[in-house]
Amino acid sequence: MRSHALLPSTLLLLGSLFLTAACANGSGLPDPAPEPVQAGPSSSTSRTVDPSKIKGLEIVNDSSEQSSCPFAISYPDVPGAEAMTAAMKKDVDRLVASFRSNRCGTGSLSAGELNVSHRFLVASGDVLGVLLTTVDGSGAGNGQSTSTYWYDGEDGAYRHALGLIADGSRDAFTAALKKQLRGREGVDPTYLDDAFADTTHRADLLDDLSFTADGGLRVQLDSGTVGASAAGSYVVSLDKATITPWLSSFGRRAQKQTEQPSSGLDLGAPSTPSAAVPTHTASADDDTDCKRVKCIALTFDDGPAAPETATLLNHLARYRARATFFTVGQNVAAHPELVRAEAKAGHEVGNHSWNHPDLTKLTPEQVAYQLGRTSTAIKAATGKAPTLFRPPYGAVNAKVKASTTLSPVLWDVDTEDWKYRDSAKVAQAVISKARRNSVVLMHDIHPTSVAAVPELLRTLTTEGFHFVTVSHLRATL
Ligand code: ZN
Repeated sequence: MRSHALLPSTLLLLGSLFLTAACANGSGLPDPAPEPVQAGPSSSTSRTVDPSKIKGLEIVNDSSEQSSCPFAISYPDVPGAEAMTAAMKKDVDRLVASFRSNRCGTGSLSAGELNVSHRFLVASGDVLGVLLTTVDGSGAGNGQSTSTYWYDGEDGAYRHALGLIADGSRDAFTAALKKQLRGREGVDPTYLDDAFADTTHRADLLDDLSFTADGGLRVQLDSGTVGASAAGSYVVSLDKATITPWLSSFGRRAQKQTEQPSSGLDLGAPSTPSAAVPTHTASADDDTDCKRVKCIALTFDDGPAAPETATLLNHLARYRARATFFTVGQNVAAHPELVRAEAKAGHEVGNHSWNHPDLTKLTPEQVAYQLGRTSTAIKAATGKAPTLFRPPYGAVNAKVKASTTLSPVLWDVDTEDWKYRDSAKVAQAVISKARRNSVVLMHDIHPTSVAAVPELLRTLTTEGFHFVTVSHLRATL
């Protein structure tokens, strides 16, 4: 997450020497380049947290759907952990601002994307831990980086990752890390000494600490911090017996809650009632004949989001309008009840990948993982696997298509609602551009887009449009 620009200039000259000797994650496996994917299969030794069990959880999402400015960010906002949310927001806002000023509108199609995705490490008792993974392909950043954020419910305080280690034990802890790193392929001993010498640098460097299910500590160091960037990131694991004496009191509680999670998270926040989930029902069958009447398919990407998606479902029900939701897997995991409500109300649920990467930049295996994991989450929520996917940024090629059995869906009406947070403007964009059989792109993560829906439904209904799902439109044309 943070910039690790600490490489001595003389050593940068040596970088090329490591290119052929690079290894990543300490696995010994060659890693030719940092890969533009973040939510890979989680380590078998880490805990799986079900985010739908976290009361009042909201996911902060923002994204564009344009290949000229491809960014997508996501991090959780957990009631009671506002100070931790603020720390994530500060880091992510800085990345987005820098990306938008350096990358967007430059016309450089070869430049990469900005993607920030999240995963819960622990949400148990009075301990919350979250991992953010950043891919910054704009050239200004360091490729892929990771950071963990911690919240201590007992003290009501945000904790930096290094807060898991007691103040007086940090020298011993870093000495153990150095010992493990020294001699690994791609690690430069001088880099290593420089990186750990200064306590400020040390905090920036050691910002990804998490516990394994058996109480050990896993430390991930971003690429470029202890060796040349081409060497990739490194993972150091310390077993429970080694790490336990060095933990702070918060670190011991975080370790315990990871090893033996309790039944729920309690950060002492006043309990707020969960937002109501709409209960509209409609038959899966729709007898609208698009050969005889004017049809249009509204599509809503990037959700579900609380409370926006629930509000949108109420608007659509009022006009008996059907729509298609291209959902993002990490949001489906947080809010399966909203995806279930979409399907029950007669809408179509499609797949928009797990965390919104440009699929054309991934390997076929990574594409299959992004779409497969999301389809599994959708099926778990609705009982039905999707048949359609919308590629993030509309970026799709033959390789992506060959990696999935899902059918890609693009659009012909772009509201640019991610850019213009103005309901009247969004409604007018749809009304003025709508044609018979159009597929309209909107996003249900933005309150302004949801607020535009009643006006466009009212106007297009009076113009004789019928609102159908994408699959229905395709089947009846
Ligand atoms: Zn999207």
